Amino acid sequence: MLNKKIFLYNTLTRKEEFFEPLNNDQVTMYCCGPTVYDFAHIGNLRAYIAEDLLRRTLRYAGYPIKHVMNITDVGHLTSDADTGEDKLEIAAKREKLDAWLVAAKYTELFFSDLKKLNIELPDISSKATDHIADMIELIKKLEEKGYTYKTADGIYFDTTKFPTYGELTQLQKQKLQAGMRIDMGEKKNEHDFALWKFSLKNEKRQMEWKSPWGIGFPGWHIECSAMAMKYFGEQFDIHCGGVDHISIHHTNEIAQSYCATGKIPARYWFHVAFLNINGEKISKSKGNFITLQEIIDKGFDPLAFRYFILSGHYRTQMDFSWEALQAAQNSLERLRHIAADLTELENNKDFTDLFQLDEIEKNYWEHWKNVLETALLNDLNTPVVLSSFWTAIREDINRKAVQLQLLKWLDDIFVLDLFNTNTFFPEEIQKIKEERDRARAQKDWTCADALRILLEEKNFEVIDRDDETFLRKK
Ligand code: AMP
Ligand code: ZN
Repeated sequence: MLNKKIFLYNTLTRKEEFFEPLNNDQVTMYCCGPTVYDFAHIGNLRAYIAEDLLRRTLRYAGYPIKHVMNITDVGHLTSDADTGEDKLEIAAKREKLDAWLVAAKYTELFFSDLKKLNIELPDISSKATDHIADMIELIKKLEEKGYTYKTADGIYFDTTKFPTYGELTQLQKQKLQAGMRIDMGEKKNEHDFALWKFSLKNEKRQMEWKSPWGIGFPGWHIECSAMAMKYFGEQFDIHCGGVDHISIHHTNEIAQSYCATGKIPARYWFHVAFLNINGEKISKSKGNFITLQEIIDKGFDPLAFRYFILSGHYRTQMDFSWEALQAAQNSLERLRHIAADLTELENNKDFTDLFQLDEIEKNYWEHWKNVLETALLNDLNTPVVLSSFWTAIREDINRKAVQLQLLKWLDDIFVLDLFNTNTFFPEEIQKIKEERDRARAQKDWTCADALRILLEEKNFEVIDRDDETFLRKK
């Protein structure tokens, strides 16, 4: 079967390009994973929702995918430019926990967030600490080729030895503002970066390894180069991350990998714009971050957040607000209502005919599918997908078969659990439901009726089917 054509914006060339993988049998996709020193915030999760959409769109277009995501559990310093302390070591002090336990704890919480958001897990999730030997090998290669130098605190990459440094991502070399000073240490050039950092002589780090240059730990950038190379070889198809990775992390990855192999590691560079709050980037270091758990604690469905994120284009900055999330939740609930009504009708023998597409309906369906698909395959234009979808649903209000096809199409790509009757309910509602389930099991009908009334007062419709009870937001 022929693959559908996808157009993707490529940061490397600064234009939308027709996507052609190196190998049609498998699209290779590497995503920069989280630094596991704290909860993921909803800005981080935006990046992973967008990458999930990319993965699902590639699959929709007919490509099998191999998706690798790293877990940064060492080496990410408080400044992306290799100064400051290791974020994991700071967290270990803060939480009075071993750095390894901190990493394990936040990795698990991160994956649990992904699951709640219907984000598919990567085929391989690779911890930096499991790949130290690969990183050392890569640094040795760069050393042999003369790209490195040693200072008192580590082994550095000499960016002047790579004449096109920064140009590959068409970077304007960041000019320092007058009066602003950069902590150069013994670095020879402003943009040089650490490949390996030495442990301080008077301090025993929790995470450190022997290396040909001395005891220490890898730099954050070499981690991704080494792991991508290990799983995909010298070149792969798509490299993903947030836009904050363009100027330093990905620029440095390109420099290292290119100098080691003579190839730019990825052909397409996919970057997700920021999620802001009051116009300011959400970030762990600014302390303005909201977690998915906070969203859930306020009674929102995590998938309302997924809907909210997909209502914006991944390359456009978005501003988070509780009002915007509420609007997304309302839309999601409307969709689930429509899906539930249609399913009920479809299961009713008297209405089976309504769900056989006649010729006119087939044409409608083909037309709308084409509109949605074109928007999706055109650099994942989800706002156009959604607005066209709503237009189609409104226009074809009486065409149940078309509506059902549209909803199934949307749910396949956006994965909002539209057809799952027992989706997310706030904890309070969940508890009442469980209590009522117990009452019903014990045939305590008086209690079950009282709890039904309580649920209805709280705006939930109670549907008892055989031995199971379903709730639906009114
Ligand atoms: P980190 O855990 O800081 O390494 O970041 C994990 C991912 O989240 C990276 O792809 C970042 O580029 C991305 N990211 C961080 N902050 C934001 C934000 N406010 N909006 C969107 N993506 C972000
Ligand atoms: Zn990375």
